[in-house]
Amino acid sequence: MTHGRILVFGSFAALIVSVFFTSGITAQPNTVQQIVPGVWFREGDIKKEGHCNNIIIEMKDYLIVVDANFPSGARLAAADAKKLSSKPIKYVFDTHHHGDHAYGNAVWTEMGATTLAYVGVAQEMKRYEPQRWSETNRPDVKELNRATAEPPKQTFDKTPFVLDDGTRRVEFHFFGWAHTRGDGFVYLPKEQVLATGDAIVNGAFNFMGDGHVANWPKVADAAGKRKIKHVLPGHGRPGGTEIITGQGKFMKEIYAGVRSLIKSGKSADDIQKLGMAKTLEAALKFSPSSKNWIGDGLAGQAIVVHEEISQKKPHGEIAGGK
Ligand SMILES: [Zn+2]
Repeated sequence: MTHGRILVFGSFAALIVSVFFTSGITAQPNTVQQIVPGVWFREGDIKKEGHCNNIIIEMKDYLIVVDANFPSGARLAAADAKKLSSKPIKYVFDTHHHGDHAYGNAVWTEMGATTLAYVGVAQEMKRYEPQRWSETNRPDVKELNRATAEPPKQTFDKTPFVLDDGTRRVEFHFFGWAHTRGDGFVYLPKEQVLATGDAIVNGAFNFMGDGHVANWPKVADAAGKRKIKHVLPGHGRPGGTEIITGQGKFMKEIYAGVRSLIKSGKSADDIQKLGMAKTLEAALKFSPSSKNWIGDGLAGQAIVVHEEISQKKPHGEIAGGK
């Protein structure tokens, strides 16, 4: 009897552990999982390839892909979409202008899809390109033989922009400046699915250089103000609304932490030193829930916040001008 109980308990514990790992911790690059019928999440290989995640949404007669990815990621996502459905890919939505989300645009255009974005994405590309394009050493970008990134072919400035063909309603939102000035979200109200791009990531993937850190938690709050069951981030595993609240809280805490370091006279160099000494995390006084978002990039992120506070403007304006 006792032996049997231990066995049952043992396998139950193993099940809990495996659910825990697949839901939040372990990366599963290049896998596709169905989130709800007709909506799939494809996890990009960020570690080896720098790819973002893709979401594939099936409509009555066509597919929508969220994010163009880098060119090599675009081809992988397109191949997987083809396995899932014979419907053509009609729209590819750029959540923002960064290379891992938009440099694949030309690949999709060539396949006959229309790249689509909030107008802020095209404006960000004007600020940062062709410089970033020309500075990248990625073979998949070089092979395209283009002078610069291809802007999204179709943009909208009033949100939500809606695609509704009677079978499914897909809303494209802009909630303000967080990760970039173009941050687009995709919301499926009936299925309660929210795709967030890099405004919300699940893990230590936050690049804040083009961002507005002070405003970031407000964007997370705004995005979270709807019925949501599934959060599909630009990087990291899918999850629930805890990813949205956790990301917002991390941004609030890093901002408050750096502000108090500035008050005690700490410079950006001091932050770098705290980072090297591995004492920065403690100095910023994070709550345990922020752990998921803390990684090797912490000192760099804290320096971005330091610059944003001390120069009194969103960091993206420091990086890319008005
Ligand atoms: Zn990204």
